[in-house]
Amino acid sequence: MILAIHRIALSALCLAFAVFPAQAQRMMNDEQILVQAKRVARGELVEVYRHGIDVEGAKFLRFAEEGYRGIEKVTGLKLDTATLGPRIQIVVSASAAVSHVWRGDDHPKDPRGVVFLSAMAYRGAMKRNNATYLHEMTHLFTWRFRSHTLREGLADWVALAVLPGTGVGPNPNGYDPKTAVPPLIADYLGTTKTPPDWLLLDADRRTAYYFASYRFVKRLIELKDVATFMHLYNSHSPEADIVTLYGMTREAAARAAGS
Ligand SMILES: [Zn+2]
Repeated sequence: MILAIHRIALSALCLAFAVFPAQAQRMMNDEQILVQAKRVARGELVEVYRHGIDVEGAKFLRFAEEGYRGIEKVTGLKLDTATLGPRIQIVVSASAAVSHVWRGDDHPKDPRGVVFLSAMAYRGAMKRNNATYLHEMTHLFTWRFRSHTLREGLADWVALAVLPGTGVGPNPNGYDPKTAVPPLIADYLGTTKTPPDWLLLDADRRTAYYFASYRFVKRLIELKDVATFMHLYNSHSPEADIVTLYGMTREAAARAAGS
């Protein structure tokens, strides 16, 4: 019996590795990657590092610092340098198949101003057709979060406001507005629920989850403005405060966003 349970757990783990090998790997290796990475460029706002891959430091630094200013402009926010350090460190790593901030979703437990960027996201950034680096940088500007869907949706909205028409994260070809959002995903929008286990295991649902989060946040920002949205983002009770701030329930807001 114990062996059977062990086998099931091992199968689930293998599946996780098969679908997102570096996602599993990175949880062990963020620290190691950072130790091994070499700095290739340093500006006023950003430092660029490479790890197991060639990086055009000066050119990418320029894009990253323009992006930093773009994030400030569209959000009105400043980076919490007292907590995260004076510059954002972006590590372009061959070992990061999935781009993420330091410690991924657990970043608020150990906040550091570090982004790990996959080779694919880096190449897309250099071609100006992928804004994943802006998504991850936005996570640092908004590092305290309570709602995972508000966090991911805002990061996509900012990335696409700064670099419109590009791909982001699990949607490298951009968003198709006709995509329907399954009710299973709509139940998470604007809540403080823990992200579902299938988010790491099911690529199709992951794509839909990010799109739904983006569309939900976009709709709320269009209804009022970024400042009002940030009150919701920073709320400990977003499901109650959405009624106060927007005059509608979370469910109604999800429907209005096409879910
Ligand atoms: Zn994200």
